[in-house]
Amino acid sequence: MAFVSMTHLLKEAKKDGYAVGQFNINGELWVQAILRAAERLKSPVILASSDRIVDYLGGFKTIVQMVRSLTDEMKITVPVVLHLDHGQTVERCIAAIDAGYSSVMYDGSSLPIAENILNTKKVTDYAHKKFVSVEAEVGSVGGMEDGLIGGIKYADLEECKRLVKEANVDALAAALGSVHGKYQGEPVLGFPEMNAISEAVQIPLVLHGASGIPLNQLKKAIQFGHAKININTECNLAFRKTLQETLVENPDIFEPRALLLPSMMAIQNVVEEKMREFDSVNRV
Ligand code: 13P
Repeated sequence: MAFVSMTHLLKEAKKDGYAVGQFNINGELWVQAILRAAERLKSPVILASSDRIVDYLGGFKTIVQMVRSLTDEMKITVPVVLHLDHGQTVERCIAAIDAGYSSVMYDGSSLPIAENILNTKKVTDYAHKKFVSVEAEVGSVGGMEDGLIGGIKYADLEECKRLVKEANVDALAAALGSVHGKYQGEPVLGFPEMNAISEAVQIPLVLHGASGIPLNQLKKAIQFGHAKININTECNLAFRKTLQETLVENPDIFEPRALLLPSMMAIQNVVEEKMREFDSVNRV
């Protein structure tokens, strides 16, 4: 089945008060685990590769072929989006689109807003002609992502309004206190700011850094306009913990399949748990 853009999926989710999960892929194991969870629970799903690890994964074309083949082989019937997470440049977003991604995020959040808007618009102009959806970011999500550490900077309401209007994006990541990676203590999200931004821009919001955010805060974020929620760290922690346990419990096993299958199941369990939390189950 062909990949779909996330525009329609997120509009439906926002209208009906749930969120579609974005699950980052870190190898073929993740793709199988995420697709299996989505099909089992009849949930739409967004598989994403973070731009920083695209080369590690074998490049855009390899990722497209891998996800496409697995979608076919596994007879997946639910809607699947293949999304570029944190696209670093306009050119990288275009390369992903040309390779077959159905959605891209251009992350110009570290640039002055005028430049962020200008570049995002270049991406949307190109993407929309090919029915590819575009996400953009204002402010900065804190924490560690793919080895880089950054601080939290709240999204500015006026900048969000400008970016959505001038760059015509389909979804907005407005940073409001979440962090990538592990939280130190309880996450504190800016709900009043979130509500104001959601009311002003109307388009679906995207919650980055959602691993470790308690269910009550996730529910509130969905209520305040979030229709896409990103998870990477929780899957990776489950992968690591299970692999460690498997190695300790089976000191003589060296067949990769036997060592890795429990970890794949652990990732699938996290994805299924998140889909239930986001209420995206049985939505197709
Ligand atoms: P976590 O690191 O909290 O899982 O966030 C993932 C993310 O936002 C990817 O863009």
